[in-house]
Amino acid sequence: MSQIFALVDCNNFYASCEKLFAPQLKNVPVLVLSNNDGCVVARSREAKALGIKMGVPVFKIKQLIAKHKIQVFSSNYPLYADMSSRVMRTLEALAPRVEVYSIDEAFLDLSGLDKLFDLESFGKQVKAKVDKDTGIQVCVGIAPLKL
Ligand SMILES: [Mg+2]
Repeated sequence: MSQIFALVDCNNFYASCEKLFAPQLKNVPVLVLSNNDGCVVARSREAKALGIKMGVPVFKIKQLIAKHKIQVFSSNYPLYADMSSRVMRTLEALAPRVEVYSIDEAFLDLSGLDKLFDLESFGKQVKAKVDKDTGIQVCVGIAPLKL
């Protein structure tokens, strides 16, 4: 049987979790900082568009933060873990074999199912269902290898 996998990856996961509970942050650039509030560990789409790099020390971008009114959060791992398990529960309801790969990524083993469904529409269904259940946006890549 030929193998086929989907990699589901949550977009800007920690920043997306913060935005979920703060609707006023829609379209606002958001950063999440490391444990000691030292470095950027997550950036919303809007923050990426301002050219802020992953891992940058926050003191180096103080002016940019003020200028663009970027909202900055300390990391809240209990929140991210809770949202992660909600995403994974939705994935487990959609696919028979789910391997949680990291807090915001999972492999779905779709081997054998490509004869039964159109994989591209399955991928779109995964995106729509995760969004509906959790409010989190994901990317889905489908390939014969996990790489
Ligand atoms: Mg991700």
